Amino acid sequence: MESRVLPVDGWRQVVHFTDEDTGLNAIISVHDATLGAGCGGCRIFPYASFEAGLEDVKNLSRGMTFKNALGGIPFGGGKAVIFADPRKDKTPELLRAFGEAVESLQGLYYTAEDSGVTEEDMNVIRSVTNYAAGIDKGGIGGNPSPFTARGVWRGMQAAARHKLGAATLKDLHVSILGVGAVGMELARLIHEEGGRLTVADVNEAAVNEARKRFDAATVAPDEAIAVDADIFSPCALGGSINPDTIDNLKAKVIAGAANNQLKTREMDEQLRQRGVLYAPDYVINAAGVVSVGLEILGTWSDEEMTRRIDKIGDTLTEIFKRADRENRPTGAVSDELALEIIARGAKAA
Ligand code: NAD
Repeated sequence: MESRVLPVDGWRQVVHFTDEDTGLNAIISVHDATLGAGCGGCRIFPYASFEAGLEDVKNLSRGMTFKNALGGIPFGGGKAVIFADPRKDKTPELLRAFGEAVESLQGLYYTAEDSGVTEEDMNVIRSVTNYAAGIDKGGIGGNPSPFTARGVWRGMQAAARHKLGAATLKDLHVSILGVGAVGMELARLIHEEGGRLTVADVNEAAVNEARKRFDAATVAPDEAIAVDADIFSPCALGGSINPDTIDNLKAKVIAGAANNQLKTREMDEQLRQRGVLYAPDYVINAAGVVSVGLEILGTWSDEEMTRRIDKIGDTLTEIFKRADRENRPTGAVSDELALEIIARGAKAA
């Protein structure tokens, strides 16, 4: 295995790992470690270029710095990407080689599941490193997706209360883009609460499942943002709010699980000007990594997770109120709150 530290300004450490025997080609990026070791998932994705993967892992690890701070766990921001197609290239050897890469950083980075990595995969990775989480141990911790979904649901309720004056999601119409691990569970929770659903996904089987189970209407993926719904919930990949799509948005609330939902920083202010309440992505989707963090700390319990998940709604309400008071966009306000927490952590250290 070969490793090379990449010089990246403003990031604590970015390392490129390659291994000829197993075909591993991966980058581990730790953005900030003020509050603790970098913690965040590993994504397996067939990036079109090395630069594309590097850009993604940098952005994702930076997002984790903010997410972990506001999620109230003592970890910095970290993330990993493996350049591979999870449907074709994933072998136990590749996963173990990645685990060895994680282990070589000696605790600077903790890994867990992200897109393309399952709990089973994490078990294989865990066999060669102590710095892997997201593994169910007798009902403790495990796959973060159901927790993420619950946190997004709580956050969506808080946003609906703040913007629409709705006590619950009952009779509200939610358009979900992406009914995968998180989106499908979120759809279930909204359906149970009496909400109305429209769903879109490139995976037809997932769309059909949501139609059957939750009586969901369906649209093509590029139409999901234009649905005349109360809430738009991006739960596929990042960048669904961008200069080409923002004019089509009908909903007055954006509350979804995807990371990096806004393609550019300007979108944050543009949404505010349009009277749209945006629940910042890394705040509303933090419950998964909070579960991972508690698992690493050994303080995971059902009660603690419920408390932390409910707190996501409270944190968002605080952000919404401060944004209203200061006439500022919600994304900028949450960045500021996170930086305040990190600065306090640096002082205390
Ligand atoms: P997933 O891969 O299980 O689901 C994503 C779904 O989106 C899939 O059904 C896929 O077919 C669909 N999709 C992909 N591209 C699409 C497109 N262009 N148009 C429409 N549908 C498309 O992933 P997930 O774990 O459900 O995560 C969803 C999002 O939430 C991701 O952005 C992820 O980074 C983010 N997130 C997940 C977690 C977690 O705990 N799983 C935590 C925080 C953030």
